[in-house]
Amino acid sequence: MRSGLSSCGVRPLSDCHRADRWSDPDAPPDDVGRRRYCRSFPARLPERSLVQLYRRGDRGPAVADVQATLFGLGLLSEAPQAAVFDDATDSAVRHFQQRRGLSVDGIVGPETYRALAAARWKLGDRLLSLATRPYVGDDVAVLQERLLELGFDAGRTDGIFGRRTEQALRGLQREYGLVPDGTCGPATLRALRQLGRHVTGGRPQVLRETEALHRSGAALPGKVVVIDPGHGGADRGATGHGLDEASVVEDLAARLEGRLTAVGVRTLLTRGPDNDPSDAERAQFANDNGADLVLSLHVDGAASPLCQGVASYHFGSGSGVTSTVGEQLASLVQREVVARTDLLDCQVHEKTWEILRLTRMPAVRLELGHLTHAGDARRLADPAFRDTVAEGILVAVQRLFLPADLDPPTGVMRMPVFEPS
Ligand SMILES: [Zn+2]
Repeated sequence: MRSGLSSCGVRPLSDCHRADRWSDPDAPPDDVGRRRYCRSFPARLPERSLVQLYRRGDRGPAVADVQATLFGLGLLSEAPQAAVFDDATDSAVRHFQQRRGLSVDGIVGPETYRALAAARWKLGDRLLSLATRPYVGDDVAVLQERLLELGFDAGRTDGIFGRRTEQALRGLQREYGLVPDGTCGPATLRALRQLGRHVTGGRPQVLRETEALHRSGAALPGKVVVIDPGHGGADRGATGHGLDEASVVEDLAARLEGRLTAVGVRTLLTRGPDNDPSDAERAQFANDNGADLVLSLHVDGAASPLCQGVASYHFGSGSGVTSTVGEQLASLVQREVVARTDLLDCQVHEKTWEILRLTRMPAVRLELGHLTHAGDARRLADPAFRDTVAEGILVAVQRLFLPADLDPPTGVMRMPVFEPS
């Protein structure tokens, strides 16, 4: 199910009144509108917003904060007055979600809320450095993008100031004769401005991810793949025609696990039948285990019984920053599953979902048919069909690690026999 709302807790908003700002707080703001709107924010959004979803018709201080952010981003044309989640707010939220690659449902849940909080920071608004509670925001994402453009490996552009961002920043500072203190303050910002954008030759992040993949060797044995069956425990996900998503993806995960293990891959599952970790916890699990890939398995459900088909998702913010290997894997899975089944091809899409954004390795999320569609549900109920889907995913993973000149045509590759060396 494409809920788009993860169940994990929300980190409270950064307090824009803290001593984060590197500039003299009494100096005239260089961007009057932005600072005024920033100052109008409460230090934190109310605690209740951590569990509550906000949608059309809701009212109250949290709605006012959401509106102030949307207004600050230029998505609401008028300064909101009544703190009512009205039609204009609804369409502004949808606009924002679309721009960010979030599920477009007009509902402010934890993920949209976090993205809104991050969107309020522009590079230069505050001093950035490695902190116990890491800085999160669009300012960090812009810094990471700039570092990558300049050839310093800040990892994925996830908007989180982590150790890798700090190391990349120190690298830049050393190379440009600055004090390598790992803090992005006025001197570093000046250097970044002076350096301009003269990097050509495309997307360094792309090259880096592909390089890492090749370094890890073009063979499956020894790879670590995290299989992530969605939902679980009390959360059954989508339901329809006597099936529930959590059980279906658990069974698919088991079939895929068997196949991957048979070709020498070390597989890890993010959950058992009884628990339901948050997407952030699942991502952390993959990071902690040094996985090479993450395969997140879901089946969809929709209000309309006519919705059907299979779709694959990879990390991408819509601003040109994507996980290229993730995109490649998503395309491969989509291709293989569609070629082997008669599921409708709902194509490959970019998303900023946490399972895709917080994982440090290529990750894909698969929505393998709609349980609310009679035809898809009938297929998914059939164990032989599930085997076919698992086989398609396996072959996609194999292709990802295969040298290009050995790539046989779609839909015909068989599972090779694994011979331990
Ligand atoms: Zn789901």
